[in-house]
Amino acid sequence: EAKQSGRNTYRFFEPAMHASAMRHLQVRQALQQAIDEQQFRLHFQPKYRGASKELTGLEALLRWTHPQLGEMAPTEFIPIAERSGQILCIGDWVLQAVCEQIARWDAAGMKPVKVALNLSPLQMRTDLVARIVELVGAAGIAPQRLMFEITETAAMKDVERSQRVIGELQALGFDIAIDDFGTGYSSLAYLAQFHCRQIKIDRFFTSRLDGDDHSGRAIVAAIIALAHALQMEVVAEGVETEGQLRELQLLHCDQVQGFLLGRPAEAPSVPGLVQASNDDLFGAAAGASAVL
Ligand code: C2E
Ligand code: MG
Ligand code: MG
Ligand code: MG
Repeated sequence: EAKQSGRNTYRFFEPAMHASAMRHLQVRQALQQAIDEQQFRLHFQPKYRGASKELTGLEALLRWTHPQLGEMAPTEFIPIAERSGQILCIGDWVLQAVCEQIARWDAAGMKPVKVALNLSPLQMRTDLVARIVELVGAAGIAPQRLMFEITETAAMKDVERSQRVIGELQALGFDIAIDDFGTGYSSLAYLAQFHCRQIKIDRFFTSRLDGDDHSGRAIVAAIIALAHALQMEVVAEGVETEGQLRELQLLHCDQVQGFLLGRPAEAPSVPGLVQASNDDLFGAAAGASAVL
């Protein structure tokens, strides 16, 4: 019996799988020390008003440099941390680090700018709302300073729970964005029940805006039109070319984010970004109404 299953296990354990399993294990073990040894940092990527390039907010993105393994990509280690449950500890670090960073910027006299952070679906299964309230209170910042990005796939995983958590956060004054929209095959009309402020169109669709394939533009136009009809503002992710930006402006996309406009950068460069932008940093709501 044991011999039988042992043989089956061996048969499917190809060398490539072995290497990837070893890597997973290595990353998981390394993550264990990452928080204690302060290997995490945050970078901040600007979001701009589509029409004017005026700064509308920042997105906090996790960065991890391991002393031996080097710079680790979130696309590699976040899924591993999600499978192991370590994302709960990491997500809590991100929350606290963002709140403290905002407080430091305030103390330094920087103009207030809204900061978005990414939430893992696992965090929604904890006493997340109470923890957020606690950290925001400890840092002495207003809920209006934070936005939470939840991927479409995560929001749809447990609709009832998502609706409850999103509703509670919005009632407290926090903003919610649906991230990576278009990758999860759910309809925007269905997502409208969450009453989120923003949807972020996945980079995949942005990248198809200036190609030969005209269906890319039609898809983005349809998403923007429907989002606006549902009173949501639209952010296009991953804008890399002037051509994409021009198309998004023609389509009345409210906000844009991408390497063309600004790469994720470390905290000390943020005051300069803010300084260089126009006064109206809390104009995100005005962005939607200007289009409607
Ligand atoms: P996301 O939330 O959709 O973040 C956007 C990703 O696209 C970021 O990758 C960003 O660096 C990248 N990006 C921005 N503009 C461009 C562009 O013009 N071109 C290209 N090619 N890429 C662009 P990053 O930082 O590697 O993060 C990847 C994903 O990891 C994020 O996707 C998010 O899902 C997750 N993640 C990052 N930080 C956190 C975190 O603190 N908590 C959680 N739960 N997930 C996080
Ligand atoms: Mg995001
Ligand atoms: Mg995204
Ligand atoms: Mg993404």
